[in-house]
Amino acid sequence: MHTRKRIHRFVRLGVCLASAIGWPFVTGSAGIAQAAEPAPSDQVVVVAGQLHMALGKTEQGLRVLSLTDTAASRQLLADEALPLFTATFRDTQTKEMLTVDADSGWQQVEASPIGEPGRYALTFGMPLDDRLKGIRVEIDIAALSEENALSWDLRVDNRNARWGLWRVAFPVVSVRDLGADGRVFLPMLSGLELAGLWSKTYKRGGTYPSGWICMQYLAAYDKTARTGLYVGVHDPWGSTKDIFGESRPDHQAVILRFEHPVANMGRAGAGFNLPGEARWQLLRGDWFDAAQIYRAWVRRRALWWPPLGHEGREDTPLWMRQLPAWVMTGGAASDCVPRVKSFAQALDLPVGFHWYNWHQIPFDNDYPHYFPAKEGFAQGVADLKAAGVHPMPYINGRLWDTHDKGAANWQFANTALASATKDEQGEPYIETYNSKETDGNSVKLAAMCPATPLWQEKVREIVLRLFGECGVSGVYIDQVAAASPRLCFDAAHGHDLGGGHWWTAGYWAMLTAIRRAKPADRMLTTECNAEPYIKWFDGYLTWHWQNQDMVPAFPAVYGGAIQMFGRAYRGGPSQDLAGRMKAGQQLVFGEQIGWFGPELIERPESGGFLRDCIRLRWRLKEYFYKGQMARPPRLTGPIPTVTADWQWHGEWPVTTDAVMTGAWRMVNWREVKENRTVLLFANVSDEGYCGPVQFDPSEYGLANPSFTAVAIGADGTKTPITIRPDERPTLTIAPRSVLAWELAPAQSN
Ligand SMILES: [Zn+2]
Repeated sequence: MHTRKRIHRFVRLGVCLASAIGWPFVTGSAGIAQAAEPAPSDQVVVVAGQLHMALGKTEQGLRVLSLTDTAASRQLLADEALPLFTATFRDTQTKEMLTVDADSGWQQVEASPIGEPGRYALTFGMPLDDRLKGIRVEIDIAALSEENALSWDLRVDNRNARWGLWRVAFPVVSVRDLGADGRVFLPMLSGLELAGLWSKTYKRGGTYPSGWICMQYLAAYDKTARTGLYVGVHDPWGSTKDIFGESRPDHQAVILRFEHPVANMGRAGAGFNLPGEARWQLLRGDWFDAAQIYRAWVRRRALWWPPLGHEGREDTPLWMRQLPAWVMTGGAASDCVPRVKSFAQALDLPVGFHWYNWHQIPFDNDYPHYFPAKEGFAQGVADLKAAGVHPMPYINGRLWDTHDKGAANWQFANTALASATKDEQGEPYIETYNSKETDGNSVKLAAMCPATPLWQEKVREIVLRLFGECGVSGVYIDQVAAASPRLCFDAAHGHDLGGGHWWTAGYWAMLTAIRRAKPADRMLTTECNAEPYIKWFDGYLTWHWQNQDMVPAFPAVYGGAIQMFGRAYRGGPSQDLAGRMKAGQQLVFGEQIGWFGPELIERPESGGFLRDCIRLRWRLKEYFYKGQMARPPRLTGPIPTVTADWQWHGEWPVTTDAVMTGAWRMVNWREVKENRTVLLFANVSDEGYCGPVQFDPSEYGLANPSFTAVAIGADGTKTPITIRPDERPTLTIAPRSVLAWELAPAQSN
């Protein structure tokens, strides 16, 4: 545990920068602010515990001059800082764009303390450009000393009759090179932790919420020096926003950027009120510590955080919470049912079955007319359920084929078009995938607007029919937590135009109605892992977690709140190693293992390992649905790496450690004696491994040395192991094997 040193507040108050003429221009290179030295009179220093921020006047604006970790004596802000905010306006008549930012263009700028200590108001008024008359930006800052954090609010007040606000970039923080141990965290896939970003050109990110940008925080840090910065937008509605990490090697900077397409964008009078708060916080640790900051917020405030009981998600059927494995194939019952049954028999455990192409229409074609099902579907479902398999058919939750009866238009133009998402010209947003119409043309699918009653009711009708007529255990509703919001401008839909949070709210309404009507023993899943739908789904398909440098940040935030399942397992010359890497990673990340074709489990070079992952997960299942992720233990010896082609898009080499680690903790908060933690190890390689394991028992609520440890194998064998105080225990793990160490307070045994 890090001890926080309380630093006495030394805020310099009362600096009003309004209408000051002839102020010196202050550059962004402020060096290390020393708490003992007075700040220049043209600066405001905001003190948030050990995080000190200096703000200073520019010619016609205000900028952040420094951002200092006073405990580590480290300057975190890059020399060339970027404007605190950038606002783009559009002329309602000519569509011309105009951009203003915090650095310049304002005749009236103020930074002053307000009310209680640690609170400041920044105002930017009277734009120099006469065309923007009536526009004003107000920022509130609250210094949170206990957390070494700054909480920000931002409003754009628009009383201009002609110019409508279009987009706002805020916050934008330029972090200086944190050295050889510097890392950048991006909320992509399960989470990415990237090294060396300051010295190479890099830009990754995109539109949130989506499967590729799943959470609303970024971080840059040096774990060894225990310094760094967490930058988040804690927006409880999950509004549409672009989130990017971008390097500028020539400036030794990495930029952490949030950008908001605003509600009713471009309309006269359109302004902006930052949803929730933006937060800059000192980060003393790594991706796991950043995840804890975000998790603490989502538990308190996020509208998608589900109710959790002693048994975890009690609104998810128990069988789904416990499921250890998934198989994925499809087609007519006569073809797939026997194969899936043999898979389940080989495992002798409950199995989920993702059933594709159960419908007569081709895949990605003639949607959403899924009925009638192929012959024997309902009977196949019944047979599988009798064999311990939980069938979950595929449907799409977003697309309507514009030629929805073969190559002909059947219901699209008359029924669906009015409820499709549309651009500003009123044209529907059309998407194409690999599917072809009977005439050879690509199938053109319209992205339906989730705010419309027509689409909400259509999806509900299909899902309830699958439950009612076919008896399926679950329904997979494709794309909902994968595809980013479309900026829909159809005023007839009744939602804010373009940006805002109407997109998530539309799905929430759709899914609330479905959950209310569905039988309690059935469940719903969707594609990928955009966070703001968690409360309305039981499972998220993590098939796209296929990258180098992944860390389990999403499981660290949401473990226990949603069941995760289903990596894509692919072929190729190194498919057995790739399969072991994926399964091992799934085990330590807390995912249900799979999904693979029924025959994969029989492969001589990987099938045994997959079975062991499934069996060990089954033994430890309570940890994953009742517990939460804890900090993974670290192997301190030299760890070999392995590389295989994961075949995500073409050839796709991924390198990981040969031995993966994870930790899950089960805490019954009312009865501390039930505190238990399991450390997971997966050796995916062909070589045995022996080396020391580093972990801090106090992280798991255990006082060293008064805890017990038992090694658990995939076959269920339990071996007590001795962990001496102040000695790193040694892990010995055979090639292609998995192992768990269960730790518990000594008095409970
Ligand atoms: Zn719409």
